[in-house]
Amino acid sequence: MKIEEFIEIIIYDLSYIELYILTFMYFLFLYFVLAPMFLKVCEFLSSKNILHKIIEKDVTKKQIQLEKLYSLKSIVVFGFSVLPVIYFIRNSTITLLPNTIYNIILGLTLLTVWNEIHFFIVHRTMHLTFFMKNVHTVHHRSKIPTVYSVYSFHWFEAFLLSTVPITIIPFIPFAPIAFFLYPFVSILFNYSGHCNYRFGNGISESWKLLGTHHNEHHYKFKKNYGFASNLLDMISARLNKVTIKRRNN
Ligand SMILES: [Zn+2]
Ligand SMILES: [Zn+2]
Repeated sequence: MKIEEFIEIIIYDLSYIELYILTFMYFLFLYFVLAPMFLKVCEFLSSKNILHKIIEKDVTKKQIQLEKLYSLKSIVVFGFSVLPVIYFIRNSTITLLPNTIYNIILGLTLLTVWNEIHFFIVHRTMHLTFFMKNVHTVHHRSKIPTVYSVYSFHWFEAFLLSTVPITIIPFIPFAPIAFFLYPFVSILFNYSGHCNYRFGNGISESWKLLGTHHNEHHYKFKKNYGFASNLLDMISARLNKVTIKRRNN
C-alpha cells in the first residue's frame, strides 16, 4: 500500500475510536522507544567528547519512574488531539495541500515556529503562582531533566500543550504528512531540551545551544520559557525594558 493510500484511510475511513488508539500508540512509540535510543546516542556522543553533560549528578530511579507514570497519563490526553483535526478535515473546514516535499517541509517549519510561540505562552502562564503551585509543579519535579521528562506533565498542562495543531491547522492549508510527522520532529527538540547534554560549555554559537536553555530552566526554575530556543525570551526581555523605560520617562 502506498503512503498516500494509508493517509487517506486514516483521514477518511477510520472511526474516531480507531483514530484515538492509533494516535495513543504513536505517542507510546515516540516516548518509550525513542527516549532510550536518544539517550544511547547522547551517551555515545559524550564518550566521543562531542556532547557534555550539563549537570553531573545522577537522577534517582524514583524520578524516572514518576516521569514515566506522568508521561503515560499525558499520552492518554495526547491521543485526543487528533480527533478535532480529523473532524474538521472531514467537514472540509481544514484545507489540505498535496503531499509534495515542499509542502511537507513548509508545514513542518510552520508547525515548529507555531509550537515555539504556543509553548512560550503556555509555559509563561504556567509560571504564574496559581498554575505553578497546582499544575506546572509536576513538570518541575524533575530538577535535573532526563529524556523521560519530556511528557511528564499534569493532565491540564498536557491538554494545553496538545492544542498546537488545532490552533493553527484550520487557518493555514497543510499537507497531511506534515501534520502526522510533526510529533516526531517535535519530540526530537523536546529530547534535546531535557536530555541534560549539550554541545560544549553552553556559551558557544547560538545554534549549538539548542536545548541548553530548557535544560537550565529545570535546574534554575526561572527564565528560558522557550521550547527549542531562547529567542522569545530575548524579545520579551527587550519589550519589558522598553516598557519600564517609558514608564520612568
Ligand atoms: Zn517551567
Ligand atoms: Zn521541561
